[in-house]
Amino acid sequence: MGALDGFVEALRGGIEVVDLTQPLDEDTPVLKLPEPFVNTPGWSTRELSRYDDRGPMWYWNAFEGGEHVGTHFDAPVHWITGQGGEDVATVPPSRLVGPAVVIDKSAEVAADPDYLLTVDEVQAFEAEHGALPDGGWLLLRTGWDAYAHDQDAFLNADEHGSHTPGFSAECARWLADEAPVVGVGVETVGTDAGRAMELDPPFPCHALMLGAGKYGLTSLTNLERLPATGAVLVAAPLKLTGGSGSPCRVLAFVPAGAA
Ligand code: MN
Repeated sequence: MGALDGFVEALRGGIEVVDLTQPLDEDTPVLKLPEPFVNTPGWSTRELSRYDDRGPMWYWNAFEGGEHVGTHFDAPVHWITGQGGEDVATVPPSRLVGPAVVIDKSAEVAADPDYLLTVDEVQAFEAEHGALPDGGWLLLRTGWDAYAHDQDAFLNADEHGSHTPGFSAECARWLADEAPVVGVGVETVGTDAGRAMELDPPFPCHALMLGAGKYGLTSLTNLERLPATGAVLVAAPLKLTGGSGSPCRVLAFVPAGAA
């Protein structure tokens, strides 16, 4: 018996494969930075041929888009604290597959879009479900994926900036330095809260997690189909040489009937 025989058998019925990826197209919401910072282009696709004079037997497109558009992977080198660290092509593949836990704060976020996950809340989760997984992912369910089809609702900005949930600075520091996880995943446009510029340090999830050589996954969906513990996540960013991140297909293996 090979080590994967039971796994292959379970894929025929005992394991469900859940797609945690949002569709990527011209309507995919894009992060908006204030002046004077450079913004990223959104996603665009240009048809090359479609069984026509330009290519009678084939259909294909070219695309353009930022590394940080849609469901995507943040590599350590993305942030100044991680400069000199791994880029998206040098992340070891073993770090792209691992156990995932889901902390559901969708009720709290419905009451307060500026909600920030705290260390106490993560430790309360651990008291109920066990320690965060070594080499795994902490996924923060907020319900924000419901807005991913609408740029304005997804960014939820007013004159003070964007109002979307994330992690407290203390929590980001604890996850970066104390917890055994390799990364965090969120449903929002970035791993940090909309008002994270005001935290200390600014953008703590980026600064501390990427600075610790860990990773981020953004714009996830279908987290409600995952159990609190017991899923296995596969993050597959493009192997962009020197890339700071990449659009990413994110899949989860879930025991059938677990969620
Ligand atoms: Mn990013």
